[in-house]
Amino acid sequence: MMIDAFEFARGSQEASGSVEVRDLRRLEVVERGDRLEWELAGSTDERGRPFLDLQVRGAVHLVCQRCLQPVRIETDLVARFLLAASEAEADAVPLEEDAFDVVVGAREFDVEGLIEDEVILWLPLVPKHERCPEPLPSTEDTTLGEGKVSPFAALGKMKKERS
Ligand SMILES: [Zn+2]
Repeated sequence: MMIDAFEFARGSQEASGSVEVRDLRRLEVVERGDRLEWELAGSTDERGRPFLDLQVRGAVHLVCQRCLQPVRIETDLVARFLLAASEAEADAVPLEEDAFDVVVGAREFDVEGLIEDEVILWLPLVPKHERCPEPLPSTEDTTLGEGKVSPFAALGKMKKERS
């Protein structure tokens, strides 16, 4: 979705929608059907500066770095952005203003791009279960496989020995 970011902020416009995580191409997910709901609201502060407020909710599944099983991460992200007219203006915003981030606005501002950036920043770098699920009982399967020989395999072996 493209918006005119400055007009959106000055007009205190609101928009909402959802994105499928498969469309967030820089995000490595394991459950491609996950969706994230988002809301965007424009506003200006007392100094007339344009702002965007973004909220993203939903769940995504990433690979747990401890057990390598999918882990569900609840996303509840709230972010506030000051719209700068240019990179130079963005750089000029004093660093102590940490109540918001600065993004360069545009007349054709890509909302999904902003959502993707923020979701990637928000998600843990090393996703893990709080408690990993029990590993699958694989030891039992191994002993069964070793002890049991398929009758067809045995037959094949006998035939080979005869010829
Ligand atoms: Zn795990």
